[in-house]
Amino acid sequence: MTTQNPGFATLAVHAGAQPDPTTGARATPIYQTTSFVFNDADHAAALFGLQQFGNIYTRIMNPTQAVLEERVAALEGGTAALAVASGHAAQMLVFHTIMKPGDNFIAARKLYGGSINQFGHAFKNFGWEVRWADPADPESFASLVDERTKGVFIESLANPGGTFVDIAAIADVAHRHGLPLIVDNTMASPYLLRPLEHGADLVIHSLTKFLGGHGNSMGGIIVDGGTFDWSASGKYPMLSEPRPEYAGVVLHQTFGNIAFAIACRVLGLRDLGAAISPFNAFMILTGIETLPLRMQRHCDNALAVAKWLKGHDKVAWVNYAGLEDDPNNTLQRRYSPKGAGAVFTFGLKGGYDAGKAFVEGLQMFSHLANIGDTRSLVIHPASTTHRQLSEEQQVAAGAGPDVVRLSIGIEDQSDIIADLEQSLAKI
Ligand SMILES: *Cc1c(COP(=O)(O)O)cnc(C)c1O
Repeated sequence: MTTQNPGFATLAVHAGAQPDPTTGARATPIYQTTSFVFNDADHAAALFGLQQFGNIYTRIMNPTQAVLEERVAALEGGTAALAVASGHAAQMLVFHTIMKPGDNFIAARKLYGGSINQFGHAFKNFGWEVRWADPADPESFASLVDERTKGVFIESLANPGGTFVDIAAIADVAHRHGLPLIVDNTMASPYLLRPLEHGADLVIHSLTKFLGGHGNSMGGIIVDGGTFDWSASGKYPMLSEPRPEYAGVVLHQTFGNIAFAIACRVLGLRDLGAAISPFNAFMILTGIETLPLRMQRHCDNALAVAKWLKGHDKVAWVNYAGLEDDPNNTLQRRYSPKGAGAVFTFGLKGGYDAGKAFVEGLQMFSHLANIGDTRSLVIHPASTTHRQLSEEQQVAAGAGPDVVRLSIGIEDQSDIIADLEQSLAKI
């Protein structure tokens, strides 16, 4: 790169990549290999002892994955990153690095449904307790902290309602208690919002969504902000105490502002094994090159669709932070001035039956459980993802019987609206 301070779109195309030193290949090759030959026995020993960085085995590190990691770290403004098999794997490795059985962490109540399950059920089996706070009330996090609390977790732009969170206010609460703030930035992507600039310490992503962007590859990533002092409180022994498996190395001492990413790799990923395949890393890397173009188009299309729906007589309400009279509009302008994202919900006057009929009547929209595809997607949560809940629980989760969730794609605006219009006309 020629400039000292490359812009976001330049980083999206170039960060971490260079022509392949062996073949001259310009696109990052898919290093489809399980393992890497050592130069000699001393080289092998230095790699295993963490005295030297290098490739050993693709579960731990791989050159295609490394380019992806460097690129996302650059886009988020972090010091280092670790790419893994999925967003859920990223979350598991973050908490594995900070939690011990009997510890707890505080999470915003409004999260992606899969995260609510992972935190509330799977993590319980490890003896990790989640405590739920109200993301609209930063002090509700403070009231849940005790001596076994290890971290605070929020989404920057919360799924499925598309509401922005006051990241700086929650970061203040976390730091007042000596805790790291972990932000899931999946729905916004670093193009719209960079949580590390607002006080977050760690960022995680489901790369499966907007970063990959084409609905074809699973992946996740952990970005280390490099700012949190893991040694101050003695609460994070994996980072601040000698590691028996690495001849007594203290990770925070040895690796400084990349220690968290290193710990997730050499302790978490090495032992728990949720590695991303080189092929998926390549697909996601290719997707990231067009992230700025796609994300702006997603936002522009979503705003146009939200405005159009708001004027339709079969629509009861539209919940999109980009609308000027939306209660979330002030936070959106402050944290994400380029747009309010692609995902939002709206309500049909006809309730449950109208919701089902509407989804079935769409032709171009795909009815499925994903977001962040180039294609426009729709789901009726009450008859699918949230059908096991009571109506009361559905309403509390923002998934009442009348709620439809859209993830607006990058097709022509007029075609997206035409599809919605023909289906609304039928109900
Ligand atoms: C999809 C998603 C996840 C989980 O990611 P996977 O790649 O599906 O494991 C986590 N957080 C958010 C906000 C998501 O949308």
